[in-house]
Amino acid sequence: MTTIKKVNCPSCSKELEWKESNEYRPFCSERCKLVDFGDWAMERHSIPGEEIYPVDSQDQDQ
Ligand SMILES: [Zn+2]
Repeated sequence: MTTIKKVNCPSCSKELEWKESNEYRPFCSERCKLVDFGDWAMERHSIPGEEIYPVDSQDQDQ
């Protein structure tokens, strides 16, 4: 008896089978994997409530 675990693609919510042969799991495809990674990278660069203002010390002093 083989139980195939099914998961939903985090990117497009499409159901897919969790198989060793699926190198993109938990994503359904390479495209979704790349899309999700892009979103994740974007989120890392924008931390809510913690905006970083570049300080130019030379301008501040004058
Ligand atoms: Zn997908």
